[in-house]
Amino acid sequence: MGDYSSYFLMKPEEVPDYVQAKLHFFPEGAKLSGQEIGDGNINYVFRVADRDSGKSIIVKQAGPTTRIEPDLGVSRDRGRIEAEILKLQSNFAPGLVPEIYLYDEVMCAMIMEDMVGHTMMRTGLLQHETYPEFAEDLTTFMAGCLIRTSDLVMDHKEKKELVKAFTNPDLCGITEDLVLMEPYTDCFHRNHVYPPNEEFIQKEVYGDQALCLEAAKLKFNFMNNPQALIHGDLHTGSIFINQEHTFVFDPEFAFFGPMGYDIGNMVMNLFFAWCNGEAEMEEGRKREDFLDWCMDTIADTVDLFVQKYDRVFDAYVTEPMAKMPGFKSWYLSGILADTAGYAGTEGLRRIHGMANVKDITSIEDVGKRTRAERIVVSFAKDCILNRNSFICGADYVAAIERAVRKHS
Ligand code: ADP
Ligand code: MG
Repeated sequence: MGDYSSYFLMKPEEVPDYVQAKLHFFPEGAKLSGQEIGDGNINYVFRVADRDSGKSIIVKQAGPTTRIEPDLGVSRDRGRIEAEILKLQSNFAPGLVPEIYLYDEVMCAMIMEDMVGHTMMRTGLLQHETYPEFAEDLTTFMAGCLIRTSDLVMDHKEKKELVKAFTNPDLCGITEDLVLMEPYTDCFHRNHVYPPNEEFIQKEVYGDQALCLEAAKLKFNFMNNPQALIHGDLHTGSIFINQEHTFVFDPEFAFFGPMGYDIGNMVMNLFFAWCNGEAEMEEGRKREDFLDWCMDTIADTVDLFVQKYDRVFDAYVTEPMAKMPGFKSWYLSGILADTAGYAGTEGLRRIHGMANVKDITSIEDVGKRTRAERIVVSFAKDCILNRNSFICGADYVAAIERAVRKHS
């Protein structure tokens, strides 16, 4: 197996030699250790570290079962697509995604930057940590990756090639079902409704025809609007963070879709953190600071995105028709309505869809969890039904306050 000319799944202790064979990252003869750190069942994630220099690197390899499965082509391609997307995103948002050093089609492995010193953001938020630079970093990432892969900036032929290359039917199918259908229909009986909220969900969601119609429109917009290369699963579990810096990773759901899907998902996941803090933290200064930070970050996510949209538009847009007076704000208003709409769909699907979030499910007190869920549902519905009137951060803050008042 010495030359890596055919696939085998590496054992942790075999990964250092692999890295040495493939890459000049560590000095020759370095004393390297290999350790498995991933928790996934599809991919194996290894860390290779040099004890002397303290430097480390990550190897992510697809497991053998995905190779034996008949859908091998898709699975193997996924790693390649993930590596390519991270490279593309690093062009538009330098430093905000882990760097890819190499993708190896034979070994189905990628060698990438270790996000050392960073914590998964959802984990940090559950400990009620705050991150002062986050809204700035996130909006830099989004403004760069979204606007610059849209027809506003990218050459139309280049963009169409990328639309083809990053068509992602399997993963989009998951979103179309789990996010944009089942929370309204429960057609596959996969929803997880918290028992104390069964009647509430019945009435407020399944039984609300106006809501279901708007969700249907949002689903079709998701399927038929290749606006920009979106991350597709942008939430606090796809972010590694510390006080100074942010990494966005795990873009396996990426495809050309509506920009507002990414922005809205982030907004709602920040609100889940607020709900957790509100339910779980003791009264006092720390609680107030955490809740204020969540709220400010929600508002800043929207407002800073708008600011950066303006800047990126002025700096990069060359498309003659996009320069027509009035076009810039018309285009933005579409992004902002989508942002609210998909913030709403994310809110509902995480409350009673199949994949729930720890921010809410870890609230042990029945009354507090029931209430938190209802607040999210009311806010989410507001976002979906009135999505055209969410045009700045303050609109989100006001809607949250309305939802909280409704359930106090
Ligand atoms: P999968 O595709 O199997 O879900 P992920 O990319 O989500 O794999 O990685 C699984 C876990 O491995 C992450 O949650 C993280 O803890 C760790 N990990 C992955 N990539 C890196 C990296 N570049 N640096 C540090 N840790 C990483
Ligand atoms: Mg993952």
